[in-house]
Amino acid sequence: MIETTESRLPRLITSLPGPKAKRIVDLDAEFLSPSYTRSYPLVVKTGRGAVVEDVDGNMFLDFAAGIAVVATGHCHPQVVAAIQKQAAELIHMSGTDFYYSNLVEFAQKLASIAPGKAPKRVYFGNSGTEATEAAMKLARYHTKRDKFIAFYGCFHGRTMGSLSLTASKSVQRKGFGSLLGGVFHAHYPDTYRGLGSADCLGYIEDEIFKHIVDPQDVAAIFVEPVQGEGGYVHAPVEFLQGLEKMCRKNGILLVADEVQSGMGRTGKWWASDYAGIEPDIMLVAKGIASGMPLSAMIARADIMNWKPGAHASTFGGNPVCIAAGMATFDLLEKKYIENSRRVGEYILRQTSDWPGRHKIVGEIRGRGLMIGVEIVRDQKTKERAHALRERIVELAFSKGLLVLGAGENTVRLAPPLMIDEEQADFGVRTLETCITEVERTV
Ligand code: PLP
Repeated sequence: MIETTESRLPRLITSLPGPKAKRIVDLDAEFLSPSYTRSYPLVVKTGRGAVVEDVDGNMFLDFAAGIAVVATGHCHPQVVAAIQKQAAELIHMSGTDFYYSNLVEFAQKLASIAPGKAPKRVYFGNSGTEATEAAMKLARYHTKRDKFIAFYGCFHGRTMGSLSLTASKSVQRKGFGSLLGGVFHAHYPDTYRGLGSADCLGYIEDEIFKHIVDPQDVAAIFVEPVQGEGGYVHAPVEFLQGLEKMCRKNGILLVADEVQSGMGRTGKWWASDYAGIEPDIMLVAKGIASGMPLSAMIARADIMNWKPGAHASTFGGNPVCIAAGMATFDLLEKKYIENSRRVGEYILRQTSDWPGRHKIVGEIRGRGLMIGVEIVRDQKTKERAHALRERIVELAFSKGLLVLGAGENTVRLAPPLMIDEEQADFGVRTLETCITEVERTV
């Protein structure tokens, strides 16, 4: 796709799905795992910046960014060049068995931006769930304790360990039998629904610690500073600070899962930065390498004290992914984190009166380009409107705007961090049209 002014906004030339897309969707239904959840029949062929083109030549504005992954936009020339150069020099070596200079350089960069002054070390994996698994193992190894606390609504991954923490949707656990023992769930604040920080912290102290597990047995508390899959719910600063205090008091490790909220998505490197906390372990993936599979667990150096052989991964820190990560880092640092903050504020300003003007919009919340639009049946009862949210998401697709749901009833806005105000305007206008159309049916 060649980028022109016109190609920065959607252009639909067939009905959706078009004939080529329809054929692929049919074949997909025959050959692919039916466990995937697709909200609409988008069959992508190319992507550039915030625009993707499907196999029939339709162009869409992407406010989903491959689930908050392509931070620098699709196929940013600098990222593509870094991948191509690296692929021509060395594709694989395995950091598990050999040394590699970019692995060290990128680890140094990530350590330098992790919150707090304490020295850090980095472990590389391939996906968010691998970062979670690594953190669960490291927390047990280091503390010699085996219990974990996580939160209702949280999503930390789908492999058996991380799934034991995940408590987003029961369908994600259904049918898989018993998971890891010793994982306890607490309430995550939801200020829109009147669930405050003190209540949630108090529940851990007064219920979990008193009745279920002694804090001295807890290895780590896993928290998303912004719940992603749970509905783009932003934890109040005092909740994160309270958790940090609780962890320090009881020798529990604080693990911040910034897989979705990290790498500049909220307008700072980390959502944790807004609370000024220093997690013992940070989990990073999604936006780290603009779409190449890479994850990182960044831990305090004195915590990452496991011995050779304790943990590793054949592909983790693959040279091509690291090259994409370094190019991504550079772009984020130079311009896109600031752009995320600025355009995010712009979108929040443009949408601030929606709850007053649309009876099915309960709340719009966010920082940077991690914005949630909560759809309700009734503003007074705040009843969650799942079906209405689904219709809005589908309608947006039919108008050339790609958005995804998050949680039961939230529309998530997670565009690439490089979008400009004109693209933001298109997204906001289109989404409002969809909300208005759906609202009329209620
Ligand atoms: N943690 C968070 C906060 C996530 O949002 C996700 C994925 O959505 C994961 C972990 C799991 O990442 P992956 O799908 O790469 O395993």
